[in-house]
Amino acid sequence: METKHYVDWYQTVTVVNEGDVTYVWKYLETEYVGSTYQTSYYPEPCSTSGAGNNGAATPIIHSPSYIYPAISEADWWEQDKICYDASFINNAYIKNAWDKLISGSITFDMLSNLVDESAEAEVCLYVQDVVTYQGGEVNGITNGRAFPITVTISASKASERSEIDVARTLLHEMIHAEMYRKILSVDGQSGLSPDNFPDIFDYYSRYLPIQKEDGTWSYPNGSPQHNLMAQHYLRQMARVLMQFDGVDPDNYMMHPVYEAIAWAGLHNTEVWSQLDPVEREFIEQKWAELNSRPKCQ
Ligand SMILES: [Zn+2]
Repeated sequence: METKHYVDWYQTVTVVNEGDVTYVWKYLETEYVGSTYQTSYYPEPCSTSGAGNNGAATPIIHSPSYIYPAISEADWWEQDKICYDASFINNAYIKNAWDKLISGSITFDMLSNLVDESAEAEVCLYVQDVVTYQGGEVNGITNGRAFPITVTISASKASERSEIDVARTLLHEMIHAEMYRKILSVDGQSGLSPDNFPDIFDYYSRYLPIQKEDGTWSYPNGSPQHNLMAQHYLRQMARVLMQFDGVDPDNYMMHPVYEAIAWAGLHNTEVWSQLDPVEREFIEQKWAELNSRPKCQ
């Protein structure tokens, strides 16, 4: 990528107004002073270091150093606020992706409310060989009908996918869990109002299910939670995944690539259907690229 550098030149002008002297900056011109070139690379698959610039002395995309809160994320997540079923702990691939995911400060910022308020575990994590929803196999599912909310990840689906996409599923399901936690905290959907959780209330009011002829229910324009995620969470999800990958979350050039991963699971939404076809193609292509990385174990 080429970055053009410019210098703006200004002149100070003395203004005398009723005896008061002030100085103002007057813009003169913008001078082009040259270009620098840089190339962005993904991190090496399976490496623990961040992306570099291919052998040049100074890496352009660093593994960033983050500002951590006084209590470390690791300590925080250890506080028994999340319960881990043995099935989850014993799946090394999924558990490693989880550990790496929750070590990130941005993940912490996004999800710490989940473990913030109650001494009881509100979310329990499980792994099953196969997870199905409405007759189809899915990557994961969150059941938020009552506490504890359960998140179940499919071992067979995870084994087919790259680590970053497994992390994406975990993040996606945890965002569901956080939304369900809020809904349960007001005694369910009917307790939602513009005064407690205005965003969730708004989406549950606008995206309504319809009953099909066979008696089952479906959301013609996607579920309220998926539409809310697609509309308001993608940017932050992308930042979590960039940090997960050792890429500077502020690297705006790489942002669309990671947003493409975050889009997975949200294609059945109104936002998706309104995207430009070219954009949808870009997202699908980038997702396929990141997801075809070799697995690290
Ligand atoms: Zn979902």
